[in-house]
Amino acid sequence: MRKPFVAGNWKMYKTVAEARQLVSELVPGLQAVEGVEKVICPPFTSLLAVASLLEGTNIGLGAQNMHWEASGAYTGEISPPMIAELCRYVILGHSERRQFFGETDDSVNVKLQSALAHGLTPIVCVGETLNEFENNQTVEVISRQIHQDFHGIQGLFDLENNPPFVVAYEPIWAIGTGKPSTADGAATIVSEVIRPALKDMFGDSVSRAVRVLYGGSVKASNAAEFFSEVEIDGALVGGASLNVADFTQIAQSAAR
Ligand code: PEP
Repeated sequence: MRKPFVAGNWKMYKTVAEARQLVSELVPGLQAVEGVEKVICPPFTSLLAVASLLEGTNIGLGAQNMHWEASGAYTGEISPPMIAELCRYVILGHSERRQFFGETDDSVNVKLQSALAHGLTPIVCVGETLNEFENNQTVEVISRQIHQDFHGIQGLFDLENNPPFVVAYEPIWAIGTGKPSTADGAATIVSEVIRPALKDMFGDSVSRAVRVLYGGSVKASNAAEFFSEVEIDGALVGGASLNVADFTQIAQSAAR
């Protein structure tokens, strides 16, 4: 049984003061949602403040990116131990990192290995561009991303009993556009592309144990439709995670 998982990606929104305000409004309602793993991912600058507000709650904290090295002369970067001091989760390979900051499947792979070695739970994003979608390349692109992003971790971790990562299927054409995938279309990609690729790499029981989320214009009004698909274990939510009522309702919809 895969526990539903809902994560909010705040992107580059909220100062520390604004983050404090949002979290203090979010905690009471979100805490009350049971049976769902709930995570918020504010910008780096707010992690410390948010970590202290989340202490003693059942809400997890994640970063939106990280460097792969534990330390070094990498100006402007944040290392895995720095994140692990405050967070349990880290988003890796978000399409905005791939699109604007040169993230590749190779860099996602190195970061994934490093995150796992530092005890973090990566939320690994995969998804096709509009152009790839329109040219029927979705299957090829997603399958390649899974194979490359997760390369080299076989045998390193107790994958079967506790897969230490989460996958987010985020078609890029659906992110921030207000034009989500259909629930049925997303579930088909999960069952026919993502789980088979995971099975290929880690075996059947691991592929069935990994939580796979959908992301891309998830709102309070459409979340339940995605979660009614048995293959979809939750959501990675961008814009709607900045609204207390919307994000809380999305988490409530994920409770099975
Ligand atoms: C995201 O940032 O991962 C995302 C899915 O954004 P949005 O929900 O705004 O489409």
